[in-house]
Order: sequence, then C-alpha cells, then structure tokens
Amino acid sequence: MTYDRLVCANCAAPVSEGRCPVCRANRERLQQESFLSGISPMALIALLAVLVAAVALLAHQTV
Ligand SMILES: [Zn+2]
Repeated sequence: MTYDRLVCANCAAPVSEGRCPVCRANRERLQQESFLSGISPMALIALLAVLVAAVALLAHQTV
C-alpha cells in the first residue's frame, strides 16, 4: 500500500511530507502497517514455534 497520494485532513498537504503532527502520526502508522503486512503469516508461525521450542528446552534444563 502506498501513502504518497494521501492528503492530510488537518493541513491538506500530502501526508508523506509530514508537515504537521497529524501527518507524521499517520505516516508512521502507515509505515508500520506496510512493514507488518510484509511479514508473511507463515514466518510468524515459524517464529512462534521456535520460541515455544526454546522455552520448552529452557524449562527442561532448569529442573
Ligand atoms: Zn497534516
């Protein structure tokens, strides 16, 4: 998703220019969303599985 043509409701300038706090907040939120959507669900599941395995391994070692 691109936010290049998104116009701010507060200052009526392109959000990508970040002229006012509302612009900057929207820009950061949109960047975070595009970052999160760039991660595939399978990668998240794999990461979770690795974490669970690591926790289980640590739990066994501390006994
Ligand atoms: Zn603005």
